[in-house]
Amino acid sequence: MPFVQPAPELPHPYQADPVLRSYLRRVLPPEVLADLEPSLQAMGATALAMRARSLQDRLEEPRHIPFDPWGHRVDRIQATRLWQEAERVAAEQGLVAIPYEDACGLHSRVFQFALVHLFHPGSDVYTCPLAMSDGAARTLLDSGNRILAERAVPLLTTRDPARVWTSGQWMTESAGGSDVGRSATEARLGDDGRWRLYGRKWFTSAAASPMALVLARPLGNPPGGKGLALFYVETRRPDGSPNGFTLNRLKDKLGTRKLPTGELDLDGMEAVPVGPLKDGVRAMAPMLNVTRAWNAVTAASLLRHGLLLAWDYAGKREAFGAPLARKPLYQDTLAGLEAEAQAAFHLAFHGAEWLGLVEHGAGDPALQRLIMPLVKLTTARQAVAGCSELLECFGGAGYVEDTGLPVLLRDAQVLSIWEGTTDVLALEALKALTGCGFPAFRGHLEALLEPVRDRMLALPAGAVRTALGQAQAWWAGAEEAGARRLALTLGRTLALALLVRQAQWALEHDHDPVPARVAFRFAAQGVDLTFHW
Ligand SMILES: Cc1cc2nc3c(=O)[nH]c(=O)nc-3n(C[C@H](O)[C@H](O)[C@H](O)COP(=O)(O)OP(=O)(O)OC[C@H]3O[C@@H](n4cnc5c(N)ncnc54)[C@H](O)[C@@H]3O)c2cc1C
Repeated sequence: MPFVQPAPELPHPYQADPVLRSYLRRVLPPEVLADLEPSLQAMGATALAMRARSLQDRLEEPRHIPFDPWGHRVDRIQATRLWQEAERVAAEQGLVAIPYEDACGLHSRVFQFALVHLFHPGSDVYTCPLAMSDGAARTLLDSGNRILAERAVPLLTTRDPARVWTSGQWMTESAGGSDVGRSATEARLGDDGRWRLYGRKWFTSAAASPMALVLARPLGNPPGGKGLALFYVETRRPDGSPNGFTLNRLKDKLGTRKLPTGELDLDGMEAVPVGPLKDGVRAMAPMLNVTRAWNAVTAASLLRHGLLLAWDYAGKREAFGAPLARKPLYQDTLAGLEAEAQAAFHLAFHGAEWLGLVEHGAGDPALQRLIMPLVKLTTARQAVAGCSELLECFGGAGYVEDTGLPVLLRDAQVLSIWEGTTDVLALEALKALTGCGFPAFRGHLEALLEPVRDRMLALPAGAVRTALGQAQAWWAGAEEAGARRLALTLGRTLALALLVRQAQWALEHDHDPVPARVAFRFAAQGVDLTFHW
């Protein structure tokens, strides 16, 4: 018989993830964690079943149905079977509802994102519409428009799968994604007192959602971002027909292939202004804070998923007389990836904590405006680089589609593009730094390091301070061309401070030196990118 390699198997993603578990033990009061534990265990089991289904249905894709059998234009989308299942699971487990039910107060966002971290890798990126639905609920609540909030938020946040809604966010146009101020979609007020939208939206994920938040320029408004307004639309009329839109096609994408991303023409779509008829980009800001937190958590979750599979494979695959798991160089490669994955995890959950803090009036929004882009851009770059490296850990098998491995890299690649590219977020971070001031960021990191007293951690804690000093010196003469390196330096420095804090806790509470080693390794991999110019 020729040799047949046993496939890597995914362990229960909650039980097998010491990083998530020890983080939750640190941040949640024991009685809260005890209450949440059954949901986390159950989500781990569901995630395993969904991954098996995702591998089985690997080639299934969403379908655009332009016409009904009698020739009426319907522009419906037939979602994959896994997506239909994911919609039910997400609603029942409250993946959008949890922060709005607020049963765990300040910890609600952490609980929500712990579930998302487990759910994402087997969900075929169903997290994209969930992120936008969460963002839409937050945006409508923050807008102060009670009528729209009372209409849509209960449907976005219900746990009833038969009633639940998802939302799209329609911003990007052909002329501008990053520079959204170039948007050409017009809003015209009719004689009947209703607003209607005319234009083309170039990337609309979750194109089948019953509602969306849309940027459009009221007729006569000035050009640029300030002239745009935020509108609420329901995509179907009461009889189910399209509300003044045509879905021209679904995009043929590198990854996220189960996610239907459409190109839409709006030709008289009825819409309701969410707030004042200007400053729509600013009105959309709560959406972006939320979706960026989801982006970061899904980035961290892809890295963890890949590592769980890689460690399993390393125990089964033999080369040169021993399992890969016993080869010192292979161990070192995985240790480097582990350090990036843990850094991404702590950054992502820091973003989640900040969402919760600001929502509860306990965090400074000016600092949040800096932290969220740093968290998003850093974790996204880590996911793209890490998933590429992870595929190599499986050798040729990592490049073969029906192992279910290449999709990791293809789906990771989008994380640094949507919700703001790396460069664009770096510029936002630079602006936010000017707003809150470097000392505020420095103070935040010093507060993270405050409990750190173990001598073992002096070196990585020192690396945080050195990198901060370098970044501050650079920032004094800030130039646009260096914004990306500055932002990545700040993001990685924040990640290191978070790793050091967790390591101190693990030493004190579990006598566990592993997180300290991880912090060392991450520091050695480099946090300061301002050095090299
Ligand atoms: C799968 C997928 C789904 C999407 N879904 C949605 C959706 O549902 N809704 C939605 O609104 N959008 C969506 N998008 C669009 C996405 O948000 C945009 O593609 C993204 O914001 C970038 O915009 P752009 O494509 O116009 O690229 P551009 O803005 O043209 O950017 C091109 C390059 O230029 C860089 N760049 C731009 N400005 C600067 C600058 N000032 N300095 C330095 N570099 C700069 C960018 O970083 C990028 O590398 C989706 C995209 C993808 C890939």
